[in-house]
Amino acid sequence: MEVKGQRKCRNCKEFFTPDARNATRQHYCSKPECRDTSKKAAQQKWCNKNPSYFRGQLNVQRVGSGAASILVTGRIIRN
Ligand SMILES: [Zn+2]
Repeated sequence: MEVKGQRKCRNCKEFFTPDARNATRQHYCSKPECRDTSKKAAQQKWCNKNPSYFRGQLNVQRVGSGAASILVTGRIIRN
């Protein structure tokens, strides 16, 4: 049953009380797996808003320079 001021987590579907300072934007509870999902969703949203951020000549040079690069996906690519 929903208590006033509570919100349903988008990941685990359980009700939680959002932080008062961030009540309108918080959609995930504080469980580690839900925070992880929230982080991934936020990063994906950011990448969708900034599609050209990791593209372009500068990044081609950076990735091709031989240095290990950490991509958005968290994978480490070694050249
Ligand atoms: Zn949750």
